[in-house]
Amino acid sequence: MQIAGSKVLVTGGGSGMGRHFVLSLAKAGADVAFCDLNTDAIAEVEAEGADLPGIVKGFEANVANEENVGQLINDAHAALGGLTVLVNNAGIFRDGLLVKKDRETGAIKKMSLRKWQSVIDVDLTGPFLCTRDFAAKVIETDTKAAVVVNISSIARYGNVGQSNYSAAKAGLVADTALWAKELARYGVRTGAIAPGFVDTPILQGMREEVLTAMLKPVPLRRVGSTDEIYMAVKFIIECDYFTGRCIDVDGGLTL
Ligand code: NAD
Repeated sequence: MQIAGSKVLVTGGGSGMGRHFVLSLAKAGADVAFCDLNTDAIAEVEAEGADLPGIVKGFEANVANEENVGQLINDAHAALGGLTVLVNNAGIFRDGLLVKKDRETGAIKKMSLRKWQSVIDVDLTGPFLCTRDFAAKVIETDTKAAVVVNISSIARYGNVGQSNYSAAKAGLVADTALWAKELARYGVRTGAIAPGFVDTPILQGMREEVLTAMLKPVPLRRVGSTDEIYMAVKFIIECDYFTGRCIDVDGGLTL
């Protein structure tokens, strides 16, 4: 599928990678709708994208809320006059060990169900709801070709302190494969991307020595840029023989 002329919905488009995807896609001639929870960020991205070749239109929506997602898909479809690409990018993390014994008091601290559920809701239920309603819209409107891009993480292999996030990101890769099989008959391809450390607001606030320690096991010894992750998004959209797989873009971290 060509990017110019495609009609894309990006979730979590107000910050970091999502913001870069929205603006890069619109620069390349796609019409782009995006959602976020942060209304100031929505206005900023819309203003930044105002003079690009493609439309840039933001919506306030929570990907973990079924009603919001139904409305979002309808609104995005109406605003762009169709939908051909979905980028499931919105994600959060709430790290903590499964259980931890306090060295001094001996007290056992457990990861709360709330912490577990909040990440599963946004990072796994969110893409499930968005992909379900996107695919339904593609089928209803007899759209001939469509693509779903899921932003996973190298945490899919199991990161200490991330029971919730790792489960969600691994689940998303499993769904990428099975959605490829279920949806191919309707002309829908899928692909996942598992980034390593990427230069987004999360990392920008990190202390220099923490960042250096974090990069030690990365063979390329640096963080990735949002544009290097966008290259994988572009590949998944453009390569019509690609479906169901996950591309790790991690500087070699998981080798
Ligand atoms: P970010 O925090 O900069 O941006 C995420 C955006 O999603 C924010 O604007 C936020 O408001 C929005 N959002 C959060 N919850 C939402 C919800 N329920 N509904 C709608 N929008 C919501 O994050 P980022 O670093 O750009 O990460 C983007 C994606 O990439 C996430 O899925 C993240 O897990 C994944 N990822 C990031 C890294 C990294 O190093 N930054 C590495 C691997 C994977």
